[in-house]
Amino acid sequence: MTTGLVWDERYFWYDFGDSRSLFGAHPHIQPGSHIETPESKRRILNLLAASGLLAQMRELRPSPVGAGDLCLVHDEAYVESVRTLSASGGGSLGPGVPVPAGGYELAALAVGGTRRALDAVLRAEVDNAYALVRPPGHHAERDHGMGLCIFANVAVATKLAMRDHGLRRLAIVDWDAHHGNGTESAFYEDPSVLTLSIHQDMVIPGRGAVCDAGRGVGEGYNINIPLPPGSGTGAYLAAIDRVIAPALRRFRPELILVASGLDACASDPTARMLLLSDSYRFMTARLLELAGELCGGRLVISHEGGYDPTATPFCALAILETMTGIRTGVQDPFGPLREEELAGHQRLQPHQEAVIAQAEALLGTPRCAQQTS
Ligand SMILES: [Zn+2]
Repeated sequence: MTTGLVWDERYFWYDFGDSRSLFGAHPHIQPGSHIETPESKRRILNLLAASGLLAQMRELRPSPVGAGDLCLVHDEAYVESVRTLSASGGGSLGPGVPVPAGGYELAALAVGGTRRALDAVLRAEVDNAYALVRPPGHHAERDHGMGLCIFANVAVATKLAMRDHGLRRLAIVDWDAHHGNGTESAFYEDPSVLTLSIHQDMVIPGRGAVCDAGRGVGEGYNINIPLPPGSGTGAYLAAIDRVIAPALRRFRPELILVASGLDACASDPTARMLLLSDSYRFMTARLLELAGELCGGRLVISHEGGYDPTATPFCALAILETMTGIRTGVQDPFGPLREEELAGHQRLQPHQEAVIAQAEALLGTPRCAQQTS
């Protein structure tokens, strides 16, 4: 198994500035590092190197996409506003959307990284690939950035891959703790892309409900599983087994793309879920198995959130050990501690089961995506 890894030093140079920028000019937040520091992502790369796994993957170099590519998802005026602000010394396009000097080029490089991973898998350069891109992208909407996302990495790269490789069906599974609103919006009326999101309920107010199933010809091609805060491995695996797996089997994608936020990790500061590194190992194994069954193993994982710099690298290592089929022998020091701490809470709970049952019920409706050709 050959696994590609996309990364670029410049991904770690996107400067989100001061922590206060998330809250406007809040007078009582002490100045300091932004939650979206490069640290958690850089530590992923460093742990891959220290574990020896990096040397066993194929490194893939990204190139930035052009403005025309970005406009496959975004309005020209929005793309231009990011470019202009970036070129004129930087500033902010709103809370959570800082654009530093040179940020346009770095955000376009992040989209290009996801595109590079897709191209490598679709050209069979590698069996599967992980794009360690930054800034993240799944909250970026057509005409505005949002939630630390400037451009929609996964959505733009999907459009490019479908155009360039003639794909007819691609599935996107988003397991970031926050709803993948931007990805959902980009394909809400598009039956050629099945979008599935497992996320913490109401973490993006007004978005991510089970009943948001797509519109027009896209109805049935968007599936949301908004799990309650406190959901752990049992809830996530049940969501995959009972909703995502059957939906993928009906849709029969030609490639599965995962928007992988690691912020459902139990110690993440931005969400309230309970996953451990082994949870990500099990989830990746499920998706890899489904990709093997449905689309020749074509699985691409693109990085989104994940803000605990100490635990996040072990979650990413678990994912990449699974993708490569190589166990490095590195032990996650947090796993045993938190397993003990969270014992009894990792199993599927009745209130979590109720949400999964709602999403599962929608699969049985005539509106649900089903490919016959
Ligand atoms: Zn997130």
